[in-house]
Amino acid sequence: MTAELRRLTDDMFETMYSAKGIGLAAPQVGRTERLAVVDIENNPIVIVNPEIILSEGSAKGEEGCLSIPEVFGDVDRATGITVRALNRDGEPFELEATDLLARCLQHEIDHLHGKLFIDYLSFLKRRSALAKWESMKKDFPQNLRKLPPDEIAGRHGEEAL
Ligand SMILES: [Zn+2]
Repeated sequence: MTAELRRLTDDMFETMYSAKGIGLAAPQVGRTERLAVVDIENNPIVIVNPEIILSEGSAKGEEGCLSIPEVFGDVDRATGITVRALNRDGEPFELEATDLLARCLQHEIDHLHGKLFIDYLSFLKRRSALAKWESMKKDFPQNLRKLPPDEIAGRHGEEAL
C-alpha cells in the first residue's frame, strides 16, 4: 500500500470522527479506492478491497448514513459475517464480525458498490427519505453531517455509517 493510501486512511478516520460517524467509505469523500474505515467502541478497522466470504443470520436494524444526514430506516442485514480484506499496510486478513460491527461493515461495503441503505427501503419510504434529504441538503455542504455533542448524546441507536 502506498503512502498516499495511508494518508487517505488517516484523512478518512479524521472526517468520520469529526462527523461523529462509525464508518466511512472512500466514495463518500469522492474517492474511487475500494477502501472503508470503521470504528466501533475504539476499535479502528481499515478494510481495503473487502469481500464478504461468509454471512449468516438476518436482523432488522435502524441505519443512518453520513452521506444522507438525518435520514434513518430499518434494513435487514446478516447478523454475522466474515470479511476478507487488506489492511492499511496491504496485508490480507480475515475478520469475523457480529451485530453492529457486522451491520456497519455491510453498509460500508455496499458504499463501495455504489449502494446506499435507502436502496433497501420500500418505494414509499425511500421516496420520503429522499425528499427529506433534498430539503436539508443545503445545510450539509460536504454531504457529511456534523452534529453538536449535545445532539449526539440523545441519539443512541442512530449511529451514522
Ligand atoms: Zn453510509
